[in-house]
Amino acid sequence: KSPIRGDSVVVIGLGRFGTAVAESLIRLGHEVLGIDENAETVQRWSDRLTHVVQADSTSSEALRQLGVKDFGRAVVGIGSDIEASVLTVLALEEVGVTDIWAKATSAKHGSILERTGAHHVVYPEAAMGERVAHLVTGKMMDFLEFDDGFAIAKTGAPREAIGKTLSESELRTKYGVTVVGLKRTRNDFTYAKADTIVEGGDILIVSGTTERVEKFAALP
Ligand code: ADP
Repeated sequence: KSPIRGDSVVVIGLGRFGTAVAESLIRLGHEVLGIDENAETVQRWSDRLTHVVQADSTSSEALRQLGVKDFGRAVVGIGSDIEASVLTVLALEEVGVTDIWAKATSAKHGSILERTGAHHVVYPEAAMGERVAHLVTGKMMDFLEFDDGFAIAKTGAPREAIGKTLSESELRTKYGVTVVGLKRTRNDFTYAKADTIVEGGDILIVSGTTERVEKFAALP
């Protein structure tokens, strides 16, 4: 599928976060215009993104000249320089970008960004910190929580489920979680079915409310 103009994204601030976003977008088939004020950074990324330009993103005039308004979305990855981050969001808003995403390094930074006109504020460090807390304290191998208190986790199978089918072990009735997928050593993930027999060493993908998923993953 060839990308259309509306699928193009401007990524501003090619630090660790911005470049991770930009590289993933490229892999997903989108066109990416990268903007950074640092000449060396621009040079380093010039052949990896669709276009990379050196500019001060706090200047709405510079953004206008680059045609940033024609891009459907913008992601602001500037983190350490809060002033530049906020002024960039303002400038994007001023030139008329209708979908602005911005990274915040603290709750205060985030609330300023929201009031400045960012449509989505993300907290990569807080989100990752929370995720790692779940991973280090239990036997979860991955954890993803959605806004509304619903979560999905990758975790080892509890002892009581081993040797039984999913319908026999009644995990949904007992623990309120749904097993969506299952991975056996050296195999790919498969969808869980009622007659799937869980073996020792199997890895489960379970979904449910955050609290229930946490309790389930803590079972021996
Ligand atoms: P990370 O923590 O994800 O690496 P940083 O905040 O360290 O993020 O990276 C910010 C990037 O944004 C740097 O490459 C920096 O050159 C760039 N940047 C900072 N201010 C501006 C600005 N006014 N215009 C364009 N790029 C900027």
